[in-house]
Amino acid sequence: MARYVQDFSEGDRDQKDLLGGKGANLAEMTRLGLPVPPGFTITTEACRAYMRTGRVPPELRVEVTMAVRRLEDAAGRRLGDYHDPLLVSVRSGARFSMPGMMETVLNVGLNDASVQGLTELSGDERFAWDSYRRLVQMFGRTVLGLDGALFADALEEATAARGVASEVDLTAQDLRALVETYKQLVREHTGREFPQHPREQLDMAIVAVLGSWGTERARLYRRRERIPDDLGTAVNVVTMVFGNLGPTSGTGVAFTRDPATGRAGDYGDYLVNAQGEDVVAGIRNTLSLADLERVDPAAHTELRQAMRRLETHYRDLCDIEFTIERGKLWMLQTRVGKRTAAAAFRIACQLVDEHLITMDEALARVSGDELARLAFPRFAEDGGGRDLFAEGMPASPGAVVGHVVLDSATAQERAAAGEDVVLVRRETSPDDLGGMIAAVGVLTARGGKTSHAAVVARGMGRTCVVGAEDVVVDTAARTVTAGGRVVHEGDLLAVDGNTGRVYLGEVPVVPSPVTTYLEEGLEAAFAQAGDDETRELVGAVDRILTHADDVRRLHVHANADTADDAAHARRLGAQGVGLCRTEHMFLGDRRVLVERVVLAEDEEDLRAALDALLPLQREDLTALLAATDGQPTTIRLIDPPLHEFLPDLTTLAVKVAVARERGEVDEHDVRLLAAVQRMHEANPMLGLRGVRLGLVVPGLFDLQVRAICEAVAARRSAGGDPHAEVMVPLVGSVQELHLVRERARTVMAEVGAAHGMSIDLPVGCMIELPRAALTADRIAEEAQFFSFGTNDLTQTTWGFSRDDVEAAFFPQYAANGVLGVSPFETIDERGVGRLVRIAVAEGRAARPDLVLGVCGEHGGDPESIGFFHEVGLDYVSCSPFRVPVARLEAGRAAV
Ligand code: PEP
Ligand code: MG
Repeated sequence: MARYVQDFSEGDRDQKDLLGGKGANLAEMTRLGLPVPPGFTITTEACRAYMRTGRVPPELRVEVTMAVRRLEDAAGRRLGDYHDPLLVSVRSGARFSMPGMMETVLNVGLNDASVQGLTELSGDERFAWDSYRRLVQMFGRTVLGLDGALFADALEEATAARGVASEVDLTAQDLRALVETYKQLVREHTGREFPQHPREQLDMAIVAVLGSWGTERARLYRRRERIPDDLGTAVNVVTMVFGNLGPTSGTGVAFTRDPATGRAGDYGDYLVNAQGEDVVAGIRNTLSLADLERVDPAAHTELRQAMRRLETHYRDLCDIEFTIERGKLWMLQTRVGKRTAAAAFRIACQLVDEHLITMDEALARVSGDELARLAFPRFAEDGGGRDLFAEGMPASPGAVVGHVVLDSATAQERAAAGEDVVLVRRETSPDDLGGMIAAVGVLTARGGKTSHAAVVARGMGRTCVVGAEDVVVDTAARTVTAGGRVVHEGDLLAVDGNTGRVYLGEVPVVPSPVTTYLEEGLEAAFAQAGDDETRELVGAVDRILTHADDVRRLHVHANADTADDAAHARRLGAQGVGLCRTEHMFLGDRRVLVERVVLAEDEEDLRAALDALLPLQREDLTALLAATDGQPTTIRLIDPPLHEFLPDLTTLAVKVAVARERGEVDEHDVRLLAAVQRMHEANPMLGLRGVRLGLVVPGLFDLQVRAICEAVAARRSAGGDPHAEVMVPLVGSVQELHLVRERARTVMAEVGAAHGMSIDLPVGCMIELPRAALTADRIAEEAQFFSFGTNDLTQTTWGFSRDDVEAAFFPQYAANGVLGVSPFETIDERGVGRLVRIAVAEGRAARPDLVLGVCGEHGGDPESIGFFHEVGLDYVSCSPFRVPVARLEAGRAAV
């Protein structure tokens, strides 16, 4: 029973975990009867075994032998045969696409003998030697680890010696000599011969591909894309077909719809007489599919039929790699294609309109991150005074301004220093990944929309323009030149990924029409949208978001401390305020009032200080409740330690000491210093804050509850419909909540009586300590609602200081795999999530009508929202600008 190898004819697209994306889709295309060159897949299981043990499992050798024999028997040729050789490619292919990150070796099976056989087979001696030369080069670099520049330099010397412009003009004899040079390079740098035995080549190539899963750049890419490190890659061994057999051959990449804009209609890049990665590498500029129709109408028709077939089958945008060998079409790869955010929304709605998918499916195919990306600003329509520097193809949208950098290392350095940088390269390679992550935008001189730069930039939402042919990058002089004008590294460039235009200097940006839609509605956005495509996009966002609102179970509230924030959130679709942090009402000029509370020497002083705060808090809350009229508004009593409102201990101590020295002592400062010293805590996050403060400083919570009740009374008197709720922070014991609630009830009754109305506001608490979660059944006896404070709950569950660790050691924890993603960003389901589950289950069991929400940062995180839906919360609360994202993700969680 085969464990590690599976023929293409045996698998299907559902086996991506085992066969990787490429292998599963090759199997699926084989099943559909499309022209796929025969081959087999070495499973991810083999890669995992290799990673575990550092060696290839012995069974794999045997299974590869059997699979190669099946391939040979079917083809009637032998691997590396002297007369009639079977040649194969060895290609990586993981569960999730990692463009350009791992290795591929073509033409495996060629050697000094079979190169003759390939000459016979193809009738083309030049082609045979060129193929052999490519093998030694690729094998030397990826399998034997030689510097690729060695081969590139030798190739350049050969063309120079011949006096020709490019390798295409080298003769068979030149290439034969070049193979000798290449083999000499291998000998010099590895101390051994280039392996002649086809099976040895195959085995070594397989190991190299398995090993490429663990390279630094592959790890970096996975970390960014949140792909787990332990999946492993599959390896596809595919019968070679040749796109470099003259003018009736070629290779290309095609999309069933435009992945940049979502425009309907197929789309692609084709290179005549080329092989393998030439298209993706963006080294030569390409032809379009329309050009292919002219060059080879029959193959073009067959390709279009295959594309339609695939799109119908996958019911989605497919991207395809194909090769035409002397007029015969071969499909080398397909997958559901990566696309920009705009394309994702447009294509989803197009497919609904074509009755290929349902609205639920359309919703599942877009994401909150994509919606957030669409809200990026763009350059102002009015281009007055803009200085066009160069123009290329718009490969990934957005509008950015940044300082020019010419290599990946500089990009990372300057970005780390806080600069916005634009990475400008002749073309990008996988080694530029670090720089692309660091940059706000990418510009390349070469390459099409499917080049490495374009694919990777789209994947990560970087603004990108490719193929700006006028641009000359001089990495020695550190300049970029276009149209006779010179830009130096460090100068400002503005890159428009929507149009492909690049400008000198600063260009003003305006909100995107999607933001206008979210803030002001469809009509305003249509008025702003200049063209049909933008209108189609805004319409698609509206349809999908409306559908999300229809199907979602989770409500979406906002964390808003001011009336303005709450009104903004409401425009963006918030259904209430899930967290108003009242301490934020004590900042700025009002700090001195809090200082008075702290410095109060007796009860009378304290009362006076608190009384001064009351009207301010009441006015703020009245305005807030006006903005949220008719909606639940959860107002949290003061949370942080009081000393946060006081001056810094050291600064104040120095000030007082200096004043003493000069004999100019300020009594107020001295009292303040004594208070600061008294209140100083080694570990304030675990100190006197939240409910503890409320229980220790008499009258503080009373004042706040009174302000809330008076605001409610004021709103009611004004004809409003306020729905205030009182939330108690940092509760760890039911008794704490009980004490606060008793007082709150008394205050509610007093204010109600004073205003001749009944005021009975819901009282609940935050669940942000493990003990609160673990005693949720008890706490629910006193709480009418729970709101999970997952920031503090993460801090206290992990014992990670939320203010320090992200900078201090998370990068290292990410690098060594302890953390995939920061638990402060995406909920740690296993640990923190488990506490949430316990509190939900036990809280609800104790009080079936308990209302449950979350107001930590995770409430706006797409992945975490799925979890909160699944555990059965009633709402998520997030910052206002995340509200649309949360609406969309709550909808996606429900379908
Ligand atoms: C929390 O801890 O998750 C929370 C929302 O409260 P804060 O961030 O104000 O501590
Ligand atoms: Mg908190």
